[in-house]
Amino acid sequence: MTDQLRRCKTCGTFKPFTDYYKGPCGAFVRCKACCILARKAAYQKNPEYTKNLVRGYRAAAKARGLAATLGDALGP
Ligand SMILES: [Zn+2]
Repeated sequence: MTDQLRRCKTCGTFKPFTDYYKGPCGAFVRCKACCILARKAAYQKNPEYTKNLVRGYRAAAKARGLAATLGDALGP
Protein backbone atom coordinates (compact mmCIF):
# COMPACT_ATOMS: atom_id res chain seq x y z
CA MET A 1 0.00 0.00 0.00
CA THR A 2 2.50 2.55 1.16
CA ASP A 3 4.91 1.92 -1.71
CA GLN A 4 2.31 2.83 -4.31
CA LEU A 5 3.36 5.98 -6.05
CA ARG A 6 1.48 8.17 -8.43
CA ARG A 7 2.90 10.68 -10.85
CA CYS A 8 1.65 14.23 -10.44
CA LYS A 9 0.47 15.58 -13.79
CA THR A 10 1.65 19.07 -12.96
CA CYS A 11 5.14 18.68 -11.51
CA GLY A 12 5.83 15.16 -12.79
CA THR A 13 7.09 13.96 -9.41
CA PHE A 14 6.23 10.49 -8.15
CA LYS A 15 4.52 10.79 -4.77
CA PRO A 16 2.55 8.48 -2.47
CA PHE A 17 -1.26 8.65 -2.48
CA THR A 18 -1.15 10.49 0.84
CA ASP A 19 0.38 13.46 -0.99
CA TYR A 20 -2.74 13.90 -3.09
CA TYR A 21 -6.14 15.39 -2.39
CA LYS A 22 -9.14 13.34 -3.47
CA GLY A 23 -11.47 16.28 -4.03
CA PRO A 24 -11.02 19.76 -5.48
CA CYS A 25 -8.19 19.17 -7.92
CA GLY A 26 -9.54 15.90 -9.28
CA ALA A 27 -8.80 12.49 -7.84
CA PHE A 28 -5.05 11.99 -7.58
CA VAL A 29 -4.23 14.17 -10.55
CA ARG A 30 -2.24 16.88 -8.83
CA CYS A 31 -0.16 16.56 -5.67
CA LYS A 32 -1.09 18.70 -2.67
CA ALA A 33 1.69 21.19 -3.35
CA CYS A 34 0.56 21.69 -6.94
CA CYS A 35 -3.06 21.87 -5.85
CA ILE A 36 -2.26 24.72 -3.47
CA LEU A 37 -0.21 26.51 -6.12
CA ALA A 38 -3.02 26.09 -8.65
CA ARG A 39 -5.53 27.48 -6.19
CA LYS A 40 -3.31 30.48 -5.48
CA ALA A 41 -2.91 31.08 -9.20
CA ALA A 42 -6.67 30.81 -9.67
CA TYR A 43 -7.17 33.31 -6.89
CA GLN A 44 -4.76 35.79 -8.44
CA LYS A 45 -6.45 35.35 -11.79
CA ASN A 46 -9.95 35.76 -10.43
CA PRO A 47 -10.13 36.77 -6.74
CA GLU A 48 -13.87 37.44 -6.79
CA TYR A 49 -14.71 33.97 -8.07
CA THR A 50 -12.57 32.29 -5.42
CA LYS A 51 -14.04 34.51 -2.70
CA ASN A 52 -17.53 33.58 -3.80
CA LEU A 53 -16.54 29.93 -3.73
CA VAL A 54 -15.37 30.25 -0.12
CA ARG A 55 -18.51 32.21 0.73
CA GLY A 56 -20.55 29.35 -0.73
CA TYR A 57 -18.75 26.81 1.47
CA ARG A 58 -19.36 28.99 4.53
CA ALA A 59 -23.04 29.46 3.70
CA ALA A 60 -23.43 25.70 3.29
CA ALA A 61 -21.71 25.10 6.63
CA LYS A 62 -23.92 27.70 8.28
CA ALA A 63 -27.04 26.10 6.79
CA ARG A 64 -25.89 22.74 8.11
CA GLY A 65 -25.35 24.30 11.53
CA LEU A 66 -28.86 25.79 11.47
CA ALA A 67 -30.32 22.45 10.44
CA ALA A 68 -28.51 20.81 13.34
CA THR A 69 -29.87 23.45 15.72
CA LEU A 70 -33.39 22.99 14.38
CA GLY A 71 -33.01 19.26 14.72
CA ASP A 72 -32.04 19.71 18.36
CA ALA A 73 -35.00 22.00 18.97
CA LEU A 74 -37.42 19.56 17.38
CA GLY A 75 -35.89 16.51 19.00
CA PRO A 76 -37.06 14.94 22.25
ZN1 LIG B 1 2.79 18.12 -8.20
